[in-house]
Amino acid sequence: MNLFSEISSIDGCFLFLDQDLTKFTTMRLKSRGDLVEIKSIPSLQKLLPILKNHHKKYIVVGWGANQILPHKCKDLVIHLDFNFDTNYLNQQRDEYDLPASLGLNHLTHHALKFSLSGWDFFTGIPASLGGAIYMNAGTNLGEIGSLTKKVRIVTPEGQLREETINSLSFSYRKNHFIKCGEIIVSAVISHRGIDPEIPDKIKGYLEYRKKTQPLSTKNCGCVFKNPKRELQAGRLIDLLGLKELSMGDLRVSPKHGNFIENLGDGNWDQFQSILKIIKSNIDHFYGIEFELEVKISYD
Ligand SMILES: Cc1cc2nc3c(=O)[nH]c(=O)nc-3n(C[C@H](O)[C@H](O)[C@H](O)COP(=O)(O)OP(=O)(O)OC[C@H]3O[C@@H](n4cnc5c(N)ncnc54)[C@H](O)[C@@H]3O)c2cc1C
Repeated sequence: MNLFSEISSIDGCFLFLDQDLTKFTTMRLKSRGDLVEIKSIPSLQKLLPILKNHHKKYIVVGWGANQILPHKCKDLVIHLDFNFDTNYLNQQRDEYDLPASLGLNHLTHHALKFSLSGWDFFTGIPASLGGAIYMNAGTNLGEIGSLTKKVRIVTPEGQLREETINSLSFSYRKNHFIKCGEIIVSAVISHRGIDPEIPDKIKGYLEYRKKTQPLSTKNCGCVFKNPKRELQAGRLIDLLGLKELSMGDLRVSPKHGNFIENLGDGNWDQFQSILKIIKSNIDHFYGIEFELEVKISYD
């Protein structure tokens, strides 16, 4: 059997060849390639060893909110779409065992309903739980890693392994335990108790986010990591007058210097060019080497 017939024969794996992948990233740069949708952990456990045997590389895409795919994607794109009974979130718990494909928006909604403290850290961050854990998503209030207790991962050999989280498991926008080719499938997360002020706090954070970030445009979140906690990449870009710098349909957001907006038909090459200009200016004027936060895949 060839690779694609083997994939198609797995229960709960749905293969789509030569697909338009544009909508799989929030930046919406044009992309085409082969996609596989995974409905369960056992399906993924069967898929990964097959890909390994065929030396087929793959990319995991969650909500694609901090990720750029190439125009023609040679690697197989894996998208998790696990079944989840949202009734699980109808009651308040001490710990929550959740699938990686679940959107953080469900968690914010739950925190609003039950006044849970801690989950307000990620109010308004567009993400799947798996993507948020991989990136250790957060704000200056805190990061998701500090609430994560256990992470379940499928290895390229198809083994399910469980990682118990400790103080060394995460740093700024980074995890230190997912090895190359491994995929997060679920996680146990806790919260910081009940705080009656949480609903008001969450509403306030959402308002603040609307004012300070270009939420209604197509973008990929922060492009660069802040060089230091008190040294914001967006502020440095702004100080050099690079806001509104444009390349084709891409421009540095007038609202936030660390966001690049796609106003129409922006493409991967233009994205690279705009990054190059920003990086060389930051290096030239501040002597700082910007590190990418966004994950970019290449042709
Ligand atoms: C408007 C906007 C605002 C944002 N604001 C913030 C913010 O305030 N704070 C912040 O931290 N981020 C922010 N982001 C960035 C983004 O929301 C986060 O990085 C988020 O964690 C990405 O999650 P995702 O599911 O979209 O992952 P993706 O972007 O799809 O993937 C990101 C990385 O994680 C990997 N990955 C995804 N899922 C898995 C998995 N199951 N197993 C293994 N690897 C996986 C991918 O391969 C990729 O390397 C913002 C983005 C946007 C568009």
